[in-house]
Amino acid sequence: MSDASKGLSLYNTLTRTKDVFVPIDPSNVRIYVCGPTVYDFAHIGNARPAIVFDVLFRLLRHLYGEAGVTYVRNITDVDDKINARALRDFGAEIASGNLTLNEAIRRVTEKTADQYHKDVAALGCLPPTVEPRATEFVARRADGKVDMITLIERLIERGHAYVAAGEVLFDTASMPDYGELSKRNLDEQQAGARIAVDAHKKNPGDFVLWKLSSPEEPGWDSPWGRGRPGWHIECSAMSAAYLGDVFDIHGGGLDLIFPHHENEIAQSRCAHGTDVMANVWMHNGFLQVEGQKMSKSVGNFYAIAELLETETFGGRKWPGEVLRLAMLMTHYREPIDFSVRKLEEAENTLRKWKRAADLAPSAGQVPDDVVAALSDDLATYAAFQRLTQLAGEAAEVTGSGQNAAAASLKAALFFLGFDIGAAKVDEAAIAKAIAKRLELIAAKNWAEADRIRDELLEQGVQLKDGKDPVTSERVTTWEVKR
Ligand SMILES: [Zn+2]
Repeated sequence: MSDASKGLSLYNTLTRTKDVFVPIDPSNVRIYVCGPTVYDFAHIGNARPAIVFDVLFRLLRHLYGEAGVTYVRNITDVDDKINARALRDFGAEIASGNLTLNEAIRRVTEKTADQYHKDVAALGCLPPTVEPRATEFVARRADGKVDMITLIERLIERGHAYVAAGEVLFDTASMPDYGELSKRNLDEQQAGARIAVDAHKKNPGDFVLWKLSSPEEPGWDSPWGRGRPGWHIECSAMSAAYLGDVFDIHGGGLDLIFPHHENEIAQSRCAHGTDVMANVWMHNGFLQVEGQKMSKSVGNFYAIAELLETETFGGRKWPGEVLRLAMLMTHYREPIDFSVRKLEEAENTLRKWKRAADLAPSAGQVPDDVVAALSDDLATYAAFQRLTQLAGEAAEVTGSGQNAAAASLKAALFFLGFDIGAAKVDEAAIAKAIAKRLELIAAKNWAEADRIRDELLEQGVQLKDGKDPVTSERVTTWEVKR
């Protein structure tokens, strides 16, 4: 009990050092990761934080128990990009009065959020413990959980925010250590502000907490008029709502350090009067595609769904677990170059591991050295080296005895989220199909019975017919083939 650290070390962007991780409450380790803005399908760069922090989530669950970790990943469903998208896709219906803007916005966000859930499930990511939507945290809530309007009111009361020209702005000069995460100071920002500073701002770095909406724009009633929140305040509200004023780990992509995370810290610390918002700040590195920055104009912009379901990248579809492994072959803090070659390499590696893991009928224990590698700031590459070693050892085992290496490998693959094929097996659906087939056999409808058998085989499910030794009735069992 005395050692709550469990041997885990994490690199902290806040201190620029790798430190031993000690949770605030070992019975409830709390982590927040900025989720997607749901105006367009998630691209492969968005897949990186989802996968990286899924590995961290799995590791924390392993170390502290499944019930001992709360992972919050939000959905940003209020954003001017969403409004623009709704107008673009549903402009005619809105103009003709068949659809309100709010209804159009809901269609955009629901469709995009559904696709995101499908994408990250295909990549082997566990659902987070809670997935709050920003729109549900703008106004005061019946359950009393922290909301954005209350947070903004508190910031004004405490002298950290002011109203100007229809906006509520955060006063960066009111916070002496503003800029501690990105290591920018206010003087640098002032000196760097070459573009004309908005005249209503006290300091060029001041940022929007609330802005007024025109009648056509989505809005909520507030003490400052009908309007909508700035982006940063969403995460301050949703993290506090589920994780409290101070929590353990905050994650996201490197591009979020400034201004998003810097401003989350400013809002949360000033509203709650705390020294930190989260103890550890983790950021995954950038992603390029085939050596170039991903952009629509270069033509190397790929949605996760495109890689999974179309042949636009390398002339073929890619299984989610191949994308997952390719993403994790590079350490999460390093930049990654996503390429067809890397995916092919990942696919070959995965095939070798799975062939070796299949030498064991069931999974053993997750090997300690795999856990130890991940506990060193998520050194996935070192963990994978151990997996390859285990695959070699498993192949050398002869005879029909226990294959401990294969059993360990199987457990490690499952732990790391590479058992997507097996996870997809819907046991209830298989049982139903088997029952249907037995009925068809009883009715001597052999052709239909065989069709069901073949369909299951295509999904990797092999049926085995036998006789019950007591009743002599036909019984059918099944197993998953790889
Ligand atoms: Zn955020």
